[in-house]
Amino acid sequence: MKPASFDLLQPESWQEVLNGLNDYGDDAQILAGGQSLIAMLNMRIAKPKILIDINSIKDDVPIIDNKSNIEVSALYRQLQLENRAHTKDELPLISECLPYIGHQQHRARGTVVGSLCHADPSSELPLCFIALKGQLKLQSLFSKRMVNAEDFFVGPLLTSRNNNEVIKSVIIPKAKEKTGYAFKEISEKHGDFALASFAAIASHNHVRFVVGGVSDEITAIDWLTEDLNEIEDLINDFVWDLNTSTDQYTSERYKRDIVRDLGFKTIKTAMNRKNTS
Ligand SMILES: Cc1cc2nc3c(=O)[nH]c(=O)nc-3n(C[C@H](O)[C@H](O)[C@H](O)COP(=O)(O)OP(=O)(O)OC[C@H]3O[C@@H](n4cnc5c(N)ncnc54)[C@H](O)[C@@H]3O)c2cc1C
Repeated sequence: MKPASFDLLQPESWQEVLNGLNDYGDDAQILAGGQSLIAMLNMRIAKPKILIDINSIKDDVPIIDNKSNIEVSALYRQLQLENRAHTKDELPLISECLPYIGHQQHRARGTVVGSLCHADPSSELPLCFIALKGQLKLQSLFSKRMVNAEDFFVGPLLTSRNNNEVIKSVIIPKAKEKTGYAFKEISEKHGDFALASFAAIASHNHVRFVVGGVSDEITAIDWLTEDLNEIEDLINDFVWDLNTSTDQYTSERYKRDIVRDLGFKTIKTAMNRKNTS
């Protein structure tokens, strides 16, 4: 199938993007790396009248390295973040998840922000972004606001972004001392979307556990314990509360079992890393 016809805007400044969004509102859609949007256009799931291609913007600041976080612009590619010298040390969770996103060719084009905006509950970056409590900077012609990761994702492929807003950048907290981070996922083959994915962050007496791919939403939970026996029981309770069901890929039972098994291993890995960090 081919996309429905649309007009293309290729602004060279963020101001022009904001003007375009203000003028066309619901009829406009941002094009970043195109790795999700082009498929949506081809399947006619998305039918914008105007596509605002942000790839020609000249006044963009790709990345800002702050003391406690990294601010990544809307044009920063997933592969740039993966290949950045300090990503492994400063953003260990993000660094571990990035190679699982499609293949290198998709990450060379796909942006970090685009993946968050697409809001697929099976995607790796939204999962890790929620785990780390990242923030997004949204801007319209008349206002600016900051949104926490957990308030941004409101459903499968749905976010709290208004149609006249662009995400200019996102803030990813850097790793903290004496804290362990781990990411794991299972998929049919490397590069496929995850059947289930997990992020765990372990610090003194605290575990944050985030699960994606097994339901329509990414689910995060915090536990105040370091006791692995207790965590095993907590996961068991958590699994029963998960709003999951059988789909074309896996059964409901498999999904609950994989959360118990691989989810627990993810937490264990984060705890081991905490002890050596
Ligand atoms: C073969 C293949 C395999 C893939 N495998 C995976 C995978 O395993 N895991 C995974 O997570 N992803 C996967 N992807 C998707 C990939 O990660 C995309 O790069 C990502 O989902 C979207 O990033 P993008 O920059 O290409 O955004 P686009 O496709 O350009 O845009 C995606 C959405 O975000 C909106 N948007 C983008 N930027 C902004 C902005 N600054 N402000 C407001 N809205 C914006 C767009 O309007 C659109 O709705 C795969 C893609 C392909 C083609």
